[in-house]
Amino acid sequence: MSETTRFAPSPSGHLHLGHAFSALFAQEQAGGGRFLLRIEDIDSGRCRPGYEAALLEDLAWLGLVWEEPPRRQSDHLADYAAALERLNAAGLIYPCFCTRREIAQEIARSASAPQGPDGPLYPGICRALSKAERRARLAAGARPALRLEMAKAARVAGPLFWQDAGEGRIQAKPEAFGDVVLARRDIGASYHLAVTLDDAVQGISLVTRGRDLFEATHVHRLLQALLDLPVPRWHHHALVTDEAGRRLAKRDDARSLRGLRAEGVTPGEVRARLKSACGTVGN
Ligand code: GLU
Repeated sequence: MSETTRFAPSPSGHLHLGHAFSALFAQEQAGGGRFLLRIEDIDSGRCRPGYEAALLEDLAWLGLVWEEPPRRQSDHLADYAAALERLNAAGLIYPCFCTRREIAQEIARSASAPQGPDGPLYPGICRALSKAERRARLAAGARPALRLEMAKAARVAGPLFWQDAGEGRIQAKPEAFGDVVLARRDIGASYHLAVTLDDAVQGISLVTRGRDLFEATHVHRLLQALLDLPVPRWHHHALVTDEAGRRLAKRDDARSLRGLRAEGVTPGEVRARLKSACGTVGN
């Protein structure tokens, strides 16, 4: 079946074998359809233009061909702001003025701190602020993050399901994440918001990505419902590990594609290595 798929790296380091697998997997899953590239660079503190140039070069070296031009998230901040405005108009988001420290202290104080897939849930401190308090803090120059009021949003959306190639039909349980951040105070959008909107704008029919992002899909499915976006299907693939079974990380530069290339490894050898490690990427 022909699909529209994408590979969506963040230029916050050099690509490693795990990225190579993910990119090749996405291209393969397009099945002759469209294969797109997206540069997820909204986290300006971590992303560098030099890494973007390097990743484009590494992907081309690997033999990947994507439709030009790639979509760069930092070029579309206005789209994310418009989506936030829509959620705001629906009364589904609220400003959060808490520092990390305040959140940690509040969690430490409470007898039971519910855990979500990304750690302890936000204890809801700013959800209870009155309009007047919010106005006063904004007037005093505080710059808030924006959080989704999860219980309300899940209620508004009603029961939701999504289709995963490996796991079948799944009921979305976004409540497990609590009041997720949709815009950080320093960055106008969070990963969850940007990825969901971009997949819709790019017309992605099959979202392929690593198993580590499986849980995030619960939140994305909810955002699609709240923003009336089309619903793709998902294929979360296994992660590439090293010989000791550890997940590869960007800091592990020995495994970077450039490192391998400098050692004289060929793109064909990279593909063969990934094929024997993961079994699914063709040649
Ligand atoms: N940008 C994300 C990453 O580098 C991937 C996002 C996605 O595929 O949904 O891990």
